[in-house]
Amino acid sequence: MLDPRVLIVLTHLLAFADARHLEVTVTSITSGREHLATVSQTHAEHRAIDIRSRGWPEKTKLELVAYLNKVVGHYGAIGYVSGKRRVIIYEKYAAAGEHFHIQVSRIVKPKNLKSGLHDLATLVNSNSRKLKE
Ligand SMILES: [Zn+2]
Repeated sequence: MLDPRVLIVLTHLLAFADARHLEVTVTSITSGREHLATVSQTHAEHRAIDIRSRGWPEKTKLELVAYLNKVVGHYGAIGYVSGKRRVIIYEKYAAAGEHFHIQVSRIVKPKNLKSGLHDLATLVNSNSRKLKE
């Protein structure tokens, strides 16, 4: 099962994209590239998804990365190379094509999950209020 924190991050991404009338396409859940030593296990462990970035303005892509790492960055996985905790990475490789890679950390602490579900409930409630207005 996909780590529920990925869905929390995705919900924030959808809200960001919706406000800017941008399309969101999930391109990969299990990438199939895990046999490569340089590729992280995040997809194989059901704690990552890829989102299409092509077609979005370059500036908006960078804004999304900064925004998600700010609001839900605490769910992020720590990069092997960078040593930084990040929940979204804008991958730009000629071979693999560009995309957003969303990843959450391996260890699920109940406290984190509880606060994440609280975040989600708050988001749903605030959106419900907007719909009623
Ligand atoms: Zn990925």
